[in-house]
Amino acid sequence: MKIAIMGAMREEIDPILETVGTYTTLEHAGNIFYECTYGGHELVIAYSKIGKVFSAITASVMCERFGAEKLLFSGVAGGISKELKIGDLVMASSLCQHDVDITAFGHPYGFIPEGSVMIEADQELRSLAAEVAVDMGVDLYEGIIATGDQFVASSERKGWIESTFQADALEMEGGSVACVCHNFGVPFFVLRSISDTADGDAGIDFDTFLQSSAKISATFILEMVKRLGH
Ligand code: SAH
Repeated sequence: MKIAIMGAMREEIDPILETVGTYTTLEHAGNIFYECTYGGHELVIAYSKIGKVFSAITASVMCERFGAEKLLFSGVAGGISKELKIGDLVMASSLCQHDVDITAFGHPYGFIPEGSVMIEADQELRSLAAEVAVDMGVDLYEGIIATGDQFVASSERKGWIESTFQADALEMEGGSVACVCHNFGVPFFVLRSISDTADGDAGIDFDTFLQSSAKISATFILEMVKRLGH
């Protein structure tokens, strides 16, 4: 099976590239795509750069040009739920865009006409992840992930996102990747390890925990790849 694995930042895919070992590279649309075989699958791996626009470009290319049959996102996020501590893993049940606002026309926050506020991640991939978590003996939290083009480092903004979208974690790419995959009909999965808690200390925590949390997420994603049916 052709599986796409993407992150937003180099640090999020480095642990994946280190594990797969050898790969070929192809430059396209401002990204480097790394191709290899792993666990009996063909992988295409890339980091998009930060935010909704860059991540949408990369996800589109992976679906359209590389023919990805499933897309797995691995990275870090700010935790909202009090249950989520730094290093914990959260998989998205559904994702939304917290910075979409055409409420002046009576629409709810996060809604774009002909779209929906929430996009649900693939149920089979979530079930597989739940099994992998049990086998690895790690806790895997499932919840709503809210995406926007903002690094959230404020308790106020975080509280607004929580109450408006019932979100459990927030980041800057999942919602756009979900939108792309949904439109291309490609089953997708978004996994994040918590790097900060999106409050006043978020910047410092992010810098401290980016690498360790990115690795926790990457390790889990590769375990899922090994377990995916052919
Ligand atoms: N330090 C980086 C910027 C990081 S932006 C630089 O200077 O280049 C934060 C990245 O991690 C995004 O890709 C986002 O998806 C995720 N993320 C982690 N914590 C976040 C938070 N509190 N708010 C928004 N995104 C967060």
